[in-house]
Amino acid sequence: MKPFDFFSPPTLAEASRILADYDGAGRALAGGTDLLIRMKRKQWTPRAVVSLNRIVGLNDIALNGELRLGARVTLNQIIRSPLICAHFPVLAATARMMAGVQVRALATVGGNLCNASPSADMAPPLMALNARAVIAGVDGERIVPLDEFFIGPGKSVLQPGEILRELLIPCPTHSFQASYAKLEHRQAMDIAMVGVGVYTETGRQGNGEVPICVDVKIVLGAVAPTPLRAKRAEEILRGYGLSVERIEHAARVAAEEAKPIDDVRSSAWYRREMVEVLTRRQLMELGD
Ligand SMILES: Cc1cc2nc3c(=O)[nH]c(=O)nc-3n(C[C@H](O)[C@H](O)[C@H](O)COP(=O)(O)OP(=O)(O)OC[C@H]3O[C@@H](n4cnc5c(N)ncnc54)[C@H](O)[C@@H]3O)c2cc1C
Repeated sequence: MKPFDFFSPPTLAEASRILADYDGAGRALAGGTDLLIRMKRKQWTPRAVVSLNRIVGLNDIALNGELRLGARVTLNQIIRSPLICAHFPVLAATARMMAGVQVRALATVGGNLCNASPSADMAPPLMALNARAVIAGVDGERIVPLDEFFIGPGKSVLQPGEILRELLIPCPTHSFQASYAKLEHRQAMDIAMVGVGVYTETGRQGNGEVPICVDVKIVLGAVAPTPLRAKRAEEILRGYGLSVERIEHAARVAAEEAKPIDDVRSSAWYRREMVEVLTRRQLMELGD
């Protein structure tokens, strides 16, 4: 590992300023489960590492009209949070699918998103839940819909000096269901070959007897340079009941919208097929 300067500031403002001073050559440290491995492999050689561990409030979970999820909340905290299990169980279920218990004790939700891997498991369910990212920098804060956070493999909208502070997840007005399914080679400790997050909010329109899908999100992971909304597939379902025909049509269109590549984990062809299967299966289950 190359030598680097290490900082552990007590405030977010100080952490931002240090990272800004290094002008893109510094990295924030949360759980270190991505960062330290890449540094040991010499894939990343930051000149400064800025630990976020002493900063108060970054690992808070609170519900007040919306869920506020601190960027330094670990995957194990998500699994054990009564608030999350009661209101957004899909997040706990997703965290449980990731890595193993030791890694989950360190790995954070913010690190998972800021690493900006196309296969980051927390991204599809959080995007499906309309999460927004609160980003702190030297000039103050800005809020970015998670949909717009990722710009390429390993790249997010974060500028030098910017730190993800927390995620805001709105509480839906109608009854909703959300799920995430992940296809991996092994049942544990593996990165997704394909991941699909699905969200449906159902209500009745006018005097309608039959419930319809008032909102829907389908988010694909590991099949494009960034986590991807299957917006054409969503349009097939929005405003209609979840019939078998519509679900099958939407799943086929979601597969068309994927932009998978061949790599060591899977062929592009197989990934596309699996997008259709995982989308259809989850929509059928949510529609039951
Ligand atoms: C054995 C093993 C299994 C794994 N399994 C999975 C899996 O199943 N699914 C999956 O998605 N991932 C998996 N991972 C990857 C990793 O554990 C996760 O991505 C984890 O959530 C990263 O969080 P972290 O806190 O450790 O991030 P770190 O390593 O601390 O940081 C990762 C990157 O994000 C930046 N960063 C971190 N926090 C912030 C912030 N608040 N603001 C700005 N930048 C920040 C860092 O500078 C760094 O560039 C696995 C890793 C290992 C080692």
